[in-house]
Amino acid sequence: MQFGHDTPDATVQSAKPRGPPPRYSDVYPSGPLRKITGVRLPRKSPSTLWDVSIGDGKISAIGPHTPGHPDISYVPGVLHASERLLAPSLCHAHIHLDKCFLLQDPKFSDLEIKDGDFREAMVLTSKAKSRFEEEDLLRRGRQLIEESIQYGVTAMRAFVEVDGEVKFKCLESGLKLKQEFKDICEIQICAFAQLPLFSGEDGGDEIRKLITDAARREGVDVIGSTPYVEQDEAKTIMNLRWISTAALFNRKPLDLHLDYNLDKEKVPLIWATLEIIKAQNWIERNGKVITLGHCTRLTQFAREDWNRLKQEIGDLPISFVGLPTSDLFMMRTDEGVRGTLPITKMIKEYKFNAAIAVNNIGNAFTPQGTCDPLSVASLGVAVYQAGTKSDSETLYECVSSRAKAAIGLRWTSLDLNIGDPADFVLFDRTNVGWRRRKTIKEAVLDGGTSRQTIRNGKLIAY
Ligand SMILES: [Zn+2]
Repeated sequence: MQFGHDTPDATVQSAKPRGPPPRYSDVYPSGPLRKITGVRLPRKSPSTLWDVSIGDGKISAIGPHTPGHPDISYVPGVLHASERLLAPSLCHAHIHLDKCFLLQDPKFSDLEIKDGDFREAMVLTSKAKSRFEEEDLLRRGRQLIEESIQYGVTAMRAFVEVDGEVKFKCLESGLKLKQEFKDICEIQICAFAQLPLFSGEDGGDEIRKLITDAARREGVDVIGSTPYVEQDEAKTIMNLRWISTAALFNRKPLDLHLDYNLDKEKVPLIWATLEIIKAQNWIERNGKVITLGHCTRLTQFAREDWNRLKQEIGDLPISFVGLPTSDLFMMRTDEGVRGTLPITKMIKEYKFNAAIAVNNIGNAFTPQGTCDPLSVASLGVAVYQAGTKSDSETLYECVSSRAKAAIGLRWTSLDLNIGDPADFVLFDRTNVGWRRRKTIKEAVLDGGTSRQTIRNGKLIAY
């Protein structure tokens, strides 16, 4: 990485002659930032530069940057952005912290993918889980969080599995990592039942007891389950009823991995889910946000199904999270049908709350991909055939503001309003010239590899 003043490009010229390169400590002040100067901003002309002032970890003012103004980049607390793009930080709305990097970690190198289907992914992951220890859980989880922060992530919902095999091992490591990174990344821990809550030898007694205990633990923010893994329909409904009751009772958000199939003949579980949630008087009882992941079965919906879904959701605090990198690898039928939730269409045409996320890193469910949420937005350009400027902004929001909203965090707008959290990503190095990203569209088409991350007005990764 190089530090120093860059060459002005064709669109923005600085009138002031370039001085000597600033010292490292000037460019990267250790304390809170008061001002970020000379940035390009989303939804503003790429030929204008702005100064963003920060107070108490929030945006306190935004004003035009004056190129001829005395250079204050040497003043502590001021970061001279050299015409780079500043945008709201990124968020993982859905990421599995405990089973990441299994394909890269030498400890699990014997667990190779041979078939590449869902059944094998469950088998390989369950073999790996039987060997999980705190040492590798912390090492792999820390790697995921650090790499994510480098890409501009300041918040995430991290799933850690709880069951009779791993007991609280994954949960406890997740809680340790949440504490370790608390100043630089908001990590929501979701105690998650990937295995059935009612099927199996003991009828799920043990796992339900473990989830009940986990839900009461300090630091556990969310609870969730995978109803589709139950052995029959009756047990699937019992799973839904039980986990949603537990979320309401413990006043926690609920995260369900739902309808992970493409079978037109199968009745989508979403209808039963909505019925159960409404019968529980979710809104009247101040139920927290409900986040629904995968839902690939909904790709078979006709227009009237989408309209019915929108109507039935009404005011319920429900968001959908599409997981295209996983779905493209995993979801298929014998006839060769593929599918992932049409997120941009759901937002544009039906006004659903929706986001997209990475889901898995380096395991049999999703062997390919990085910890960069923006790479999923980039993939979305092709998957959703969404290439316009406005599509790009929606895709960016899907891994930023919409992702934060989907997991119950404060919405931060691409407009960067006064009072919004000073949680940003600053694209590119200072010296890349015309190739630097000037708009959100450029950042979505190719996010680049060099970014700086700012959280609560402090530079946390560069
Ligand atoms: Zn998942």
